Amino acid sequence: MAGVKNSSKALSEEVQPRKAFGLAAKDSSGVLSPFTFSRRNNGDDDVTVKVLYCGICHSDLHIIKNEWKITTYPVVPGHEIVGIVTEIGPNVQKFKVGDKAGIGCMVGSCHSCEACDNNLENYCSKMILTYNSIDVDGTITYGGYSDMIVVNEHFVVKFPEKLAMDKAAPLLCAGITVYSPMKTFSLDEPAKHLGVVGLGGLGHVAVKFGKAFGMKVTVISTSSKKKEEAIKTLGADDFLVSSDPQLMQTAMGTMDGIINTVSAKHDVLPLIFLLKTHGKMIMVGVPNAPLELPVFPLIMRGKILAGSSIGGMKQTQEMIDFAAKHNITADIELIKADYVNDAMERLAKADVRYRFVIDVGNTLTAA
Ligand code: NAP
Ligand code: ZN
Repeated sequence: MAGVKNSSKALSEEVQPRKAFGLAAKDSSGVLSPFTFSRRNNGDDDVTVKVLYCGICHSDLHIIKNEWKITTYPVVPGHEIVGIVTEIGPNVQKFKVGDKAGIGCMVGSCHSCEACDNNLENYCSKMILTYNSIDVDGTITYGGYSDMIVVNEHFVVKFPEKLAMDKAAPLLCAGITVYSPMKTFSLDEPAKHLGVVGLGGLGHVAVKFGKAFGMKVTVISTSSKKKEEAIKTLGADDFLVSSDPQLMQTAMGTMDGIINTVSAKHDVLPLIFLLKTHGKMIMVGVPNAPLELPVFPLIMRGKILAGSSIGGMKQTQEMIDFAAKHNITADIELIKADYVNDAMERLAKADVRYRFVIDVGNTLTAA
């Protein structure tokens, strides 16, 4: 998640003649306000997508407030984008005008390194993020809190007809971010026990994938507030409150794997205790401060701690097709564009069940 340097305004206007409109944070207050900017013309391999829906990921919140110290302002966030293709370049194979399309966290990579050769563009050192990154033409990328976007078709997924566009938008980041490590670390097998830490946007989708894989799924949350819905609505088998040592004790040594989605500094020791021998905890949440890592409990039971960042494009298409087959979408609160700052405040307090999605197509209008 590399930072970017300022590119000149003149360069931006020269190479990006198309007018676009969106919501941008202009400083680390994170307040989003109307922003007129430009995008490139549709190139030979590009599709232009009219954005209809865009999910609000906690990464958007980290970035608009510069919590990772990598933000270049103004920043237009948004990497859970679903919309309609309005233009295609002559080389485009996968799309025609009018098709539904999904765009996630990446819009470019080198296509020639080992990672790219292995369909792991997400680990390419030249990977270009959907926003707050430098594009190949030297301009800064702007995300999906905007009316339209131009993207190389390689980084656009075919959006399954069966899925609701608003509810499935969060799969483009939250979905692939939890699906990918479940596949990579063999946490997709029936009879295995999966722990999901943090029942937010990523976490609630992880529960749904875990159940679709036939696993036993236990949620580990900071309070009991989400317990009933986790079990009754999302289908979790069990629910632990991380601050309750007695409850945590009952599940010690029972989990094959844990997907840790927590967005803030937290104590990992009680979570490591939940793992079986050779159990794996995969970190996908990105707290803005380092965590303390007690090594002894890892060593004593040969436990594994790993990290994972989104997923490659092939796997992103596989994930969304799997979601369509198993009727997996996010539980969302659909909001108007002018509610976005209130939504950010609520997201900071984990006060959303479970993902805000902006109704861009109907409510984002140029001032
Ligand atoms: P979210 O909707 O805000 O969910 C995060 C959850 O973490 C909250 O709902 C809360 O769950 C729990 N939590 C929050 N503060 C906590 C604290 N101080 N201690 C313990 N638990 C806490 O966020 P999200 O959109 O799912 O994103 C989660 C994290 O993943 C963010 O850091 C985001 O930047 C990162 N992310 C990483 C990738 C990647 O590729 N690795 C991709 C997308 C997002 P409970 O209410 O259940 O406690
Ligand atoms: Zn995200």
